[in-house]
Amino acid sequence: MSIDFKRVMEKAEEYRPQIAAFLRDMVAIPSESCQEEEIIQRIRGEMEHVGFDRVEIDPMGNILGYIGTGKHLIAMDAHVDTVGVGNRENWDHDPYTGFEDGEIISGRGTSDQEGGMASMVYGAKIIKELGLSGDYTLLVTGTVQEEDCDGLCWQYIIEESGIRPEFVVSTEPTSLGIYRGQRGRMEILVAVDGVSSHGSAPERGDNAIFKMAPILMELQELHTRLKDDPFLGKGSLTVSEIFYTSPSRCAVADGCSISVDRRLTRGETWEDALEEIRQLPAVKKAGAGSPCTITTVPHTGDWSIRPSAISPVGSWKRNIQSAEPWWSLLDPCLRKSQ
Ligand SMILES: [Zn+2]
Repeated sequence: MSIDFKRVMEKAEEYRPQIAAFLRDMVAIPSESCQEEEIIQRIRGEMEHVGFDRVEIDPMGNILGYIGTGKHLIAMDAHVDTVGVGNRENWDHDPYTGFEDGEIISGRGTSDQEGGMASMVYGAKIIKELGLSGDYTLLVTGTVQEEDCDGLCWQYIIEESGIRPEFVVSTEPTSLGIYRGQRGRMEILVAVDGVSSHGSAPERGDNAIFKMAPILMELQELHTRLKDDPFLGKGSLTVSEIFYTSPSRCAVADGCSISVDRRLTRGETWEDALEEIRQLPAVKKAGAGSPCTITTVPHTGDWSIRPSAISPVGSWKRNIQSAEPWWSLLDPCLRKSQ
């Protein structure tokens, strides 16, 4: 089938105001993970309005819109949950009112990934209007709970709904580049124990927060020497959260732990990433006198079974291993690190 790309671009330009309005509507709806019901319903309205052939919301809360009836199923995805807004003082504009000029729309979720959703819905409309679906069925998915539980939504779609697209395009933001690989990701917990004592006599205790301090500095330095890769980019780490236990503000802290967000590049394995932290001098030192544990954070219990946007997940439960391997289409057989 030959595609008249000029006509496609004309249609896209014609729908620019509707695409922008749809995106700004989505941005205006706070949709943090597990609170996606309103935005899912907004997307359902737009899909029905532009003429999707079929629109469904699955029991997890994902919305699935279909165009065409061909035998080759191609899926395009945008997760529609967002992270929170953090410190509002750091925003130039209200994150939910957003900002728009002739070129840019900003606001929480515009790039990750409500912009993708707006584009997909109108891309599907154009496919239908120009009769481009041919032997294909296009499935447009708006998925939930991705920010907290990467992969859970698609695990549900594949395992529970039995939907097997031949190809999936994710609209994660890439500055419009076509990305053919992805670094892996791990969540690593580093925990240090201490001994509490009264704050007036800290020498009687063993302060867990002070023990964590040099570990933090060494992690910062470790990031700079992680492996690089010309295709997938550099391995990286950052500390995303810090926790403590202490009997009181007038006492020595007896526990401190941190979450490390680790991105794995080509050739790095989960075990390597754990081992290089175990080998940090400050970790060894902290572990010498009292336990210092490093594990992948288990996504179990409440974490992965929180009620979904539309209806409780009910008995469907998954423990997600909080580590995903890197992959690259440049490698034969989609070689993976694990
Ligand atoms: Zn995203």
